Amino acid sequence: MRNIVAVVATFSILVAAVTITVFSQSQTSDQNRFVEKKSSKKDDISAEKIPVPSGPYSHPEKFSLRPSKSISKDEVERLKLALHKASYFKPLSDKSVQCLLCPRHCLIKDGERGACRIRANYDGTLYALTYGKPVAINNDPVEKKPLNHFLPGTKSLSIATIGCNFGCIFCQNWHISQEYPERGEHLFIVEYFARLIPGKSDLTVFTPSELVQLAKLLGADSISYTYTEPSVFYEYMLDTAKEARKAGVKNIWVTCGYLEEKPLRELCKYLDAANVDLKGFSEEFYSRYCGSNLAPVLKTLKILKEENVWLEITNLVIPGANDSDEMIRKMCVWLKENLGTDVPLHFSRFYPNYKLQDRPETPFSTLQRAAKIAKEEGIKYVYIGNVWAEGVEDTLCPDCGKRLVRRRLMSVLENHIKDGKCEFCKTSIPGVWSLNSSK
Ligand code: SF4
Ligand SMILES: [Zn+2]
Repeated sequence: MRNIVAVVATFSILVAAVTITVFSQSQTSDQNRFVEKKSSKKDDISAEKIPVPSGPYSHPEKFSLRPSKSISKDEVERLKLALHKASYFKPLSDKSVQCLLCPRHCLIKDGERGACRIRANYDGTLYALTYGKPVAINNDPVEKKPLNHFLPGTKSLSIATIGCNFGCIFCQNWHISQEYPERGEHLFIVEYFARLIPGKSDLTVFTPSELVQLAKLLGADSISYTYTEPSVFYEYMLDTAKEARKAGVKNIWVTCGYLEEKPLRELCKYLDAANVDLKGFSEEFYSRYCGSNLAPVLKTLKILKEENVWLEITNLVIPGANDSDEMIRKMCVWLKENLGTDVPLHFSRFYPNYKLQDRPETPFSTLQRAAKIAKEEGIKYVYIGNVWAEGVEDTLCPDCGKRLVRRRLMSVLENHIKDGKCEFCKTSIPGVWSLNSSK
């Protein structure tokens, strides 16, 4: 055990060193670019100039230049991908199936796969190809999800497999979300964590109970299903969540919220918290930038609230795309009317990425403007993320106004919430503040 702690400590120092280096570099260039941006005209960041897909989503190739949607069963076996029977699908004639997991409801012919690229049909049965095959693992601060009202200062073992049911052209993790599982490379980081589990021989597969074991070994109080879209590795997430619940480890779903009601309600039985990316607030935005649609996401938000899952929302603010006062206000009004004013809202800075490289990162002033609108609409807990600025990550008491949680770079520096209440005026602060809190 001591060896494990030593290895983990060394690794954490290395990661911290790399993170600090990268971060300080990005801050330097960030400041330079900020000066440049002041002179750029608003027209230069118009959404009209971006070549993006239009109309309803029909096929992944529409926004992906990646090859073949087919993969043979032999190839799946040769590559040691998983052949885990999917939970939600309907067999059709001629060995086709319809996937019923997410609102895309892909019609999948024998030997082909759905839009998320990781669900394949062989002989009329649908299989999940990434069950037990994480592509990313890390022990993150829970603030990175981001969750600011859920066990602050704790670690969350964060995992993902390849695949996504969205095609966001601004995806920050596109190299794993928009990839095909057969093209996944040998992953040092997965192997590194696998070696921490005593006696583990296959270093590329993690069973649900091994993930829970790893969370315990690393001192994580929760497991987060995150980075890509966890709905597409639903069975793996659900089985892990069940094991975690038995072991007293919490479950966090970080998601675009595009999941059908039946599997969602089943998942909610084991979920403790969720952060939903509300990517914009119009059907036009979802269709154009994500190849998807908004209505099912709003339905998911209501269900999470109904099912008493602790909920926070993230809105990535993209210059010229979803940053108008009108859209932000409309979103805040909807949140207030449908979820109440206690659900924390995180406005997050966009950085040019993937297919959306024609505009600068979000100006800090835009994020401040968004936060101001949210507060005007009565949202009580509003945060700004992906930005290094004093106070933007802090939790303030809505009653006495005192600073309750002081954060810096996703670390908790001070916490004045005691038994779920403001230490100064005793106002209750919504959230999950201790491991013993039940749903
Ligand atoms: S989970 Fe994948 S295969 Fe199923 S409907 Fe959604 S995108 Fe299609
Ligand atoms: Zn107070």
